[in-house]
Amino acid sequence: MGVALPMSLSPSSVSSFTSCPLAFKFSYLDRLPEPPSVAASRGTLVHRALERLHDRPPSDRTIETALADLDQAATELVDHPEFAGLGLDDHGWAKFLGEAGVLVQRYFELEDPQAVRAIGLEIKLEARIGERLRIRGIIDRLELDADGELIVTDYKTGAAPREQHERSRLVGVQIYALLCEQNFGRRPKRVQLLYLSTPEAIIAEPSEQSINGVTRKTEAVYKAIQRACATDNFRPNQSALCSYCTFKPYCPAYGGDPTLAVELRGPGTMISAPLPLVTA
Ligand code: SF4
Repeated sequence: MGVALPMSLSPSSVSSFTSCPLAFKFSYLDRLPEPPSVAASRGTLVHRALERLHDRPPSDRTIETALADLDQAATELVDHPEFAGLGLDDHGWAKFLGEAGVLVQRYFELEDPQAVRAIGLEIKLEARIGERLRIRGIIDRLELDADGELIVTDYKTGAAPREQHERSRLVGVQIYALLCEQNFGRRPKRVQLLYLSTPEAIIAEPSEQSINGVTRKTEAVYKAIQRACATDNFRPNQSALCSYCTFKPYCPAYGGDPTLAVELRGPGTMISAPLPLVTA
């Protein structure tokens, strides 16, 4: 029996399928919940703080106001299930906020926020590829440079990729450029990934050729997803990412049973039988 084909993809779902088709299925097709993680929640908090910072008049964008924005963002988010589910005690929460504060301060080593002319923050965009496929993405920040050219900025709170992973990250960058071109009628001059932990910027200058390339690559990924959905054949692809994979206990590459992964939805969830049920 096949699996319903998704009608839209995001830069992260394209990257997920490319890294491991089975993890993609668990996450994006079965929509199995993943436990809250400190790293992901810290990322959410820092993104919100930087969004608040760039909502301020340029002259107000200092380290002090950025840290005040971080405190305000923490107050907003503390009761959100993503944060409450971390189960942090007072000491853990203070450590979590301290680490987020370090990332916010390192951001100032990458650029001067007073020089940024943001024209959009956390913008949801959609583009079409071919007849059926829609690509959806959220751009952290869209701005104009001194020449009036568009610049797309994406904040990253995890580690910067090693060289061999850099190319796959840049596929996501080119998807942002495609979203920009289709929605605003022009290609951004620059797409930059700001890795706050290092801190380090990875910068790409999209061209017609690179956008055509990412369009073809995304179409190829979608065709591979179509084939996998038609036969319900999503193979596991072992890599260093397995160490961080929520679904590892259910992964056949590690002796797990994928049909049991549905128990991640919690008590009371029906587990589909691997064979047809015989009723009396
Ligand atoms: S453990 Fe590794 S191979 Fe298995 S689903 Fe997760 S990422 Fe894929």
